[in-house]
Amino acid sequence: MVKETGFYDTLGVRPNATPDELKRAYRKLALKYHPDKNPTEGEKFKQISQAYEVLSDAKKRELYDHGGEKAIKEGGTGGGGGSFASPMDIFDLFFGGGSRMHRERKGKNIFHQITVSLEELYNGATRRLAVQKNTICERCEGRGSRKGAAQMCVSCHGTGMQVRMHQLIPGMVQQLSTVCHSCQGQGRRINAKDRCKACGGRKVLRQKKILEVHIDKGMRDGQKIVFHGEGDQEPGLEPGDIIIVLDQQEHPHFTRLANGEDLIMSMELQLVEALCGFKKPVQTLDNRTLLITSHPGELIKPGDTKCIMNEGMPMYRRPFEKGHLIINFSVVFPQANFLPNHKLKELERYLPEKMDAEQPDSMDDDLYIYADLEDCDLENRKRRNQQYYYMKRDDYASTGGVQCQTS
Ligand SMILES: [Zn+2]
Ligand SMILES: [Zn+2]
Repeated sequence: MVKETGFYDTLGVRPNATPDELKRAYRKLALKYHPDKNPTEGEKFKQISQAYEVLSDAKKRELYDHGGEKAIKEGGTGGGGGSFASPMDIFDLFFGGGSRMHRERKGKNIFHQITVSLEELYNGATRRLAVQKNTICERCEGRGSRKGAAQMCVSCHGTGMQVRMHQLIPGMVQQLSTVCHSCQGQGRRINAKDRCKACGGRKVLRQKKILEVHIDKGMRDGQKIVFHGEGDQEPGLEPGDIIIVLDQQEHPHFTRLANGEDLIMSMELQLVEALCGFKKPVQTLDNRTLLITSHPGELIKPGDTKCIMNEGMPMYRRPFEKGHLIINFSVVFPQANFLPNHKLKELERYLPEKMDAEQPDSMDDDLYIYADLEDCDLENRKRRNQQYYYMKRDDYASTGGVQCQTS
């Protein structure tokens, strides 16, 4: 039992979520609420990040499960705990966005999540994705004006900063530097008439670009496809990358195991099929039909698990090798009274013998109490018992005081 579920709710998972489920939930939400996509959802992005930071660390998660958010903020056993990393650092660590030092010389990476079906990951697919990105204006070659039209800003003398002296008390002066208002920190100004007509002096243009995303056979949920240097262009910076993150949809019949290779499905058998054999068609992800066959004499029990070799997912970059298809069997028993009583006797002849065969003729009625089977409603019974328990506790509470006085 966990003390509170706030962090789990933020990520939309249950408190018993596996590390894999947490990663998946964080990935989806972080990409959705990243400030690049949703500039107004900064607070939400921060909450997702903090929840993931705590729950992805086994020690912090245990602390949270026992003591809630309060325990995390107090930092547990002391020693600098209690503060959260910046949401951007968590994001960079998770998606491998590179360190800040690196980012300064390189433009931002742009992430896009695309939803793919299990069929697409099995067969491979090509998707066309339209993205908006900044490209350097060709007309002015990123200068924003005619060549040589930029003049030094007179307000800041080209430094981009303005320094103001602010007197706190007589004799004590504070020096404040702020970004220059006249040139927005550029240090240079362009007369309105010299501005590039194509980009309006912004040096870059917003353009639509179509990317062809090749989804290879065997790719996995969360796998990244990187388009190097396709991110936003900015004068003087090496452009960042566009990174496509695959988000695998649930499939109605097959579940892909965490190893990425095996598929699992469930199959329901009638009792007669489990006992006497069956042939059942299964549609594969590439639209072939497998005839799952159990031969007479080969018996399937409820809960049995069987494998079909080489019918799982193709391996990434080795698509001719495939994992297993694992089938979990359940067995449906016939309805009550499916056979008249006299025929049941007949059926009994074919089935293995009972363990302790009763001897109805020689049974002495006085020695046995016959117990019939009834349907019972366990949920209702539990509730009734709880009410009874609370009533009893009240009884104790009212008599407890008296007992204390006499002892
Ligand atoms: Zn231009
Ligand atoms: Zn200036």
